[in-house]
Amino acid sequence: MADLNSEVRYIKGIGEKRAKLLEKLGVQTLFDLIRHFPRAYEDRTVIKTVAETEPDETVCVKATVTGAPVFARSRRGLEFVKLRAADDTGTIDIIFFNRKYIKDQLKPGARYIFYGKVAGALSLKTMTNPVFEPEDKQSDVTGRIVPVYRLTSGISGRVFMNLMRRGLDMCGSGIPDILPDAVRAENKLAEAVFAYENIHFPADPNSLDFARRRLIFEELFVLACALGLRGGERRKASGIKLRRSDPDEFYASLPFSPTGAQMRAIKAAELDMCSGKLMNRMIQGDVGSGKTLAAAACIWLSYKNGLQSAFMAPTEVLAAQHFKTLLGFLSPFGVRACKLTGSMTAKQKKETKDAVASGEFDLVVGTHALLSEDAIFPSLGLVITDEQHRFGVGQRGALSGKGQNPHVLVMSATPIPRTLALVIYGDLDVSVLDEMPPGRKAVKTFTINEELRARLYGFVRKLVSQGRQVFAVCPAVEENEDAEIELRSAEEHARELKKEFPDLAVACVHGRMKPKDKDAVMAAFSSGEIDILVSTTVIEVGIDVPNAALMIIENAERFGLSQLHQLRGRVGRGDSESYCVLISDPESKEARKRLKIMCETSDGFKISEEDLRLRGPGDFFGSRQHGLPDMRIADLCSDVRILDLARTEAERTLKRDPCLTSAENSKLLQGINELFNIKGKTFN
Ligand code: ADP
Ligand code: MG
Repeated sequence: MADLNSEVRYIKGIGEKRAKLLEKLGVQTLFDLIRHFPRAYEDRTVIKTVAETEPDETVCVKATVTGAPVFARSRRGLEFVKLRAADDTGTIDIIFFNRKYIKDQLKPGARYIFYGKVAGALSLKTMTNPVFEPEDKQSDVTGRIVPVYRLTSGISGRVFMNLMRRGLDMCGSGIPDILPDAVRAENKLAEAVFAYENIHFPADPNSLDFARRRLIFEELFVLACALGLRGGERRKASGIKLRRSDPDEFYASLPFSPTGAQMRAIKAAELDMCSGKLMNRMIQGDVGSGKTLAAAACIWLSYKNGLQSAFMAPTEVLAAQHFKTLLGFLSPFGVRACKLTGSMTAKQKKETKDAVASGEFDLVVGTHALLSEDAIFPSLGLVITDEQHRFGVGQRGALSGKGQNPHVLVMSATPIPRTLALVIYGDLDVSVLDEMPPGRKAVKTFTINEELRARLYGFVRKLVSQGRQVFAVCPAVEENEDAEIELRSAEEHARELKKEFPDLAVACVHGRMKPKDKDAVMAAFSSGEIDILVSTTVIEVGIDVPNAALMIIENAERFGLSQLHQLRGRVGRGDSESYCVLISDPESKEARKRLKIMCETSDGFKISEEDLRLRGPGDFFGSRQHGLPDMRIADLCSDVRILDLARTEAERTLKRDPCLTSAENSKLLQGINELFNIKGKTFN
């Protein structure tokens, strides 16, 4: 049996040059090769007689070459080879462009199977550039289901297929089965050898289904086991046992009563932190559901126990805002808080860190700067990360690695569909804030095109004259080089608006600005000095300005639905009516459909499911921000049923063998290690 880790350049037919090309496809070892699954298939199983074929049909035809192929040149100068073929039912002309050599490959009197698209009327049928094989040799490219691979220039589909054939033959029956026998039997799954053979060269449609199902299950099962294993370790871990404190004392100081959902989340977190086990909880709630308050209550409890808390936000702007909000909730109790962000001078940072290290602060709110090694927390009881999906799993871990095993609370505004959440956050307990603070009105949402811009600006005037404020969001920062898609860059757009509204205060904030300048603009907007704030998506998450009444989004079709929903969540935070206007001239039906969803619903979960369906999970989270490995064959959106099965089975497996140390799970454990760390090098 061949070593699955052996490099592909040692396979016959693959030299240094092809090995380089294959590397571009992520294929270095034999195992990589056989796991380069087809992206699609062509069903070439149907063989018809000439008479049976229909125009525009792509199909196999078995026919005899009736005359010698002729080489000719068209009036436009195109070279082609033409021949006539026939069966008992009729004749068909076969034409090959730019393939002179074919003239000598097709022998008059011999029978071939041609696969291609049929054109022409009853009297004169033609097939252009078909693939073909002699009838007696048939089986490689006709009369079967043929794999279609993701390729790179320099390797054709046919060549790749041949390499794959050779690769699989080398493996023979030596592909190890990563699934424990019991799991495979229980779920009626194909064996590994069968699955690998039939995913590439399916014997028939049923075998392909059987193979696919097995490989998708395997991939999701390994993922679920990996996350479950990690979650299990976390759940077992002991944590600082806090003393309970009556939350009514905290609630009494608030300007409003907490919602039922907030109280339930706070209660759950309190139980966690007072249990002696480590808390690993996520609070998930749509924009505006009041996650910050829940966080504040946890910080309060930690403070009551004489412990420090650290709160990490993904941007400077958000850190500044959270600092202000949390201080508002907590300073009445004497909580001493400070800010620690990357934009502070080295001196400021050092002073702050020293003060934190000597216990002068109970709460530190900041950005990634909190993770720096010299940020030392002498009595850290709780770490909180906001907008968790923006941080990789690694960064989340880095903060909780501070201090002596602090409790962990993560907050997410991305309403992730449940099935996906169970996998991605399989290691967290989840509280959902499914209730909005009272008095919140749905944001009235409209899609308009350029023609209505003048009317929109009239509306802007009216709102500003009522003392309200306006957001205008653009997708790009710099002026776009691509003149065809006229993106309204933030800076340019701000200039235009200044011209349009010379008497109003218009300002601009974007990601290229220094954090300090950004903060200054945001602060001015918060305090009402600015009427219209033009921005890029830096304001996407978290910013809270209740007086903002209108969100205008330029080139709305360029944004994902979840992103639009987040943006829209920036308004409608006060009790008066607020609006969201999506400006777009979408060409595509798909884009129109997406924007329509925004106008019809304000339910974040519904929007995220649509978004996920339309874009897929990779895009949904931004590139790899979810911290999950890329899937080779499974699709986290559409393979939901198998995902459920795989997760249940993973739970059962881990229950029997919590660390996967038994012999029957050894290959599984290897697969898990490989998935997360040691790409491609550990398989034996
Ligand atoms: P998000 O979940 O998007 O982070 P925030 O925590 O920023 O939401 O809260 C949104 C707004 O709602 C804030 O202005 C906050 O003060 C307010 N708020 C939070 N909880 C309540 C409540 N129970 N009643 C009224 N207003 C609330
Ligand atoms: Mg928030």
